[in-house]
Amino acid sequence: MKQEQNNIATPIMCAHFPYKDAHGSISMPIYSGAAFEFDTAEEMEDAFLGKSGKHTYSRISNPTVEFFENRIKEASGAAHVLAVSSGMAAISTVFMTIAYAGSNIVTSPHLFGNTFSLFIFTLQAFGVEARFCNLLDKEEVERNIDDKTCAVFTEIITNPHMEAIDLKMLSQIAHKKGVPLVADSTIVPWPHFNASKLGVDLEVVSSTKYLSGGATSIGGLILDHQTFDWSRSPRLGKLTQMAGKRAFQVKLRAEISRNMGAYMSPHTAYLQNLGLETLELRYAKTSASCLELAKFLQTIPAVKNVNYNGLKDNPFYAVSHAQYGDCPGAMLTFALEDRATCFAFINRLKVIRRATNLFDNKTLIIHPLSTIYVTLSPEYKKMVEVPDNMLRLSVGLENPEDLKADILQALA
Ligand SMILES: *Cc1c(COP(=O)(O)O)cnc(C)c1O
Repeated sequence: MKQEQNNIATPIMCAHFPYKDAHGSISMPIYSGAAFEFDTAEEMEDAFLGKSGKHTYSRISNPTVEFFENRIKEASGAAHVLAVSSGMAAISTVFMTIAYAGSNIVTSPHLFGNTFSLFIFTLQAFGVEARFCNLLDKEEVERNIDDKTCAVFTEIITNPHMEAIDLKMLSQIAHKKGVPLVADSTIVPWPHFNASKLGVDLEVVSSTKYLSGGATSIGGLILDHQTFDWSRSPRLGKLTQMAGKRAFQVKLRAEISRNMGAYMSPHTAYLQNLGLETLELRYAKTSASCLELAKFLQTIPAVKNVNYNGLKDNPFYAVSHAQYGDCPGAMLTFALEDRATCFAFINRLKVIRRATNLFDNKTLIIHPLSTIYVTLSPEYKKMVEVPDNMLRLSVGLENPEDLKADILQALA
């Protein structure tokens, strides 16, 4: 839909194997084994040195996963892609590669729950500080960046607050200070989202969501656009002498990914390959339904402040439209009177399913504060600013009329 605008070729439907399959299989076969065999010791040495590009062991690389990575490369325009076991593995592996004791990450408190927890608890134990600020405020971001900042991190549309971040603005501030912009682009897939055009250097994705196609599997992706000069990075600086802009890729592939051991499983890659083939169709349908439902919810008196970037009266409409076109994804939030009203509404739903996750083929509802954020202390709950009367809806492939009827009967 926005293909020409974003200028990315998307040969999602026509990918071929790099080698002819012995049986002419039209789907990428699943190479589920752990290890690969060699004829000679010399060939083995070359493979371990990375000279022949041959696979040795499936924690490091695997033909099925590699095929998936290459298709993502084509779809996204990224220079390098690594597939891992979850969206959280993608985020934590990126910071294992670029952060160091004494460094800081400039970010927003409006984050997916586990990302917030990773920053504030897990990474803190290794001496990495999370600096939470308002990423919509240029001066505040600038003030928080210093010579120990390893990255500015943002979700392209914050979950569940739904702020469409002005990525060009944010990347200009980060780059002026010599810092990379790392963005979680789970919420809008390519070609609707084009990282390098917006100044994003590293992209992380939970492929569990749009890509898997029907919530078949958990997965994550790290996309390196190789737009950033790492020569001043304490972790990657030295590597740039040998690898230039490929420094992140080399560190990630040759050291961090192997050592963290979170490479994607071949079976997951197979499922997500299939998901990729219907991504564009599912995205177009669910985004259109999401916009229709957002407009519908606005007409219901019991529903307060519907939040969807595709609504023309949304404060983020202009930024969202400039960056993602007419379809900023299939997730919206809305508010009812209070928590009790939300719970009663959820309990009466018959078509919409009570589950966490996003971009399943089924429409899903969740009350974020009592689930995703429930284990946070009162102090942290205050920090993440998730209201107690907010519901999050992820719109699926059902007929929107059935969803509207379900909402009406549950509110009655
Ligand atoms: C789900 C999600 C994640 C985490 O992904 P997993 O695959 O569940 O580990 C990260 N960021 C965003 C925006 C998400 O929606």
